[in-house]
Amino acid sequence: MRLLIVEDEQRMANALARGLRADGFAVEIAVDGRTGLNEARHGSFDAIILDIMLPGMSGYEIIRTLRGEDNWVPVLVLSAKDGEYDQSDGLDLGADDYLTKPFSYVVLLARLRALLRRGSPARPSVLTVGDLTLDPGRHTVQRGDSDIALSSREFSLLEYLMRNADQVVNKVTLLDHVWSASEDTHVNLVEVYIGYLRKKIDTPFGRRSLQTVRGAGYRLTADPR
Ligand code: CA
Repeated sequence: MRLLIVEDEQRMANALARGLRADGFAVEIAVDGRTGLNEARHGSFDAIILDIMLPGMSGYEIIRTLRGEDNWVPVLVLSAKDGEYDQSDGLDLGADDYLTKPFSYVVLLARLRALLRRGSPARPSVLTVGDLTLDPGRHTVQRGDSDIALSSREFSLLEYLMRNADQVVNKVTLLDHVWSASEDTHVNLVEVYIGYLRKKIDTPFGRRSLQTVRGAGYRLTADPR
């Protein structure tokens, strides 16, 4: 199995490569983001071990670019500390698993083998509600032919609502699914973000697809008009 390590801490990359080679893997190392992306594009790797904070281009951008090019090589993300890596953002962008540094080599090896057993993930399917479409793999949203730019939080919120289209979803459920438990949050935040979303997916198009169900929550529907 052929692995790419994208990691700018060279001692760490070398130590990891030594261990993995001893365990029978073919290993290449890239020490900056752009080289990492090029290698990932052209090197036909079975998996990539990817640091997030990299010179040149972040691990986030690398994943987003690869997935946007329909490259579904399994990616194990390494993050320096809690908080640097937002798990929901990373998994939205198409990372397959992640480890927080410092990690034990034995754990990394086990997670890597599990990833390789699963193989390349299937490309997630595009969600559609009326003429609103969301592509979880490419991280894009469109109303008809118009592209809509969303923040990662707005994107997560819309994705959850689209996966539960035509159902009433209450604010607490949205808070649980879209915000991390560690964040200082309040249901008011959901109202604020629902407002942001409406301004992007409905108002410019004269739609009312994201409805408030008084006392119950929100419902996303295929707008009848
Ligand atoms: Ca780094």
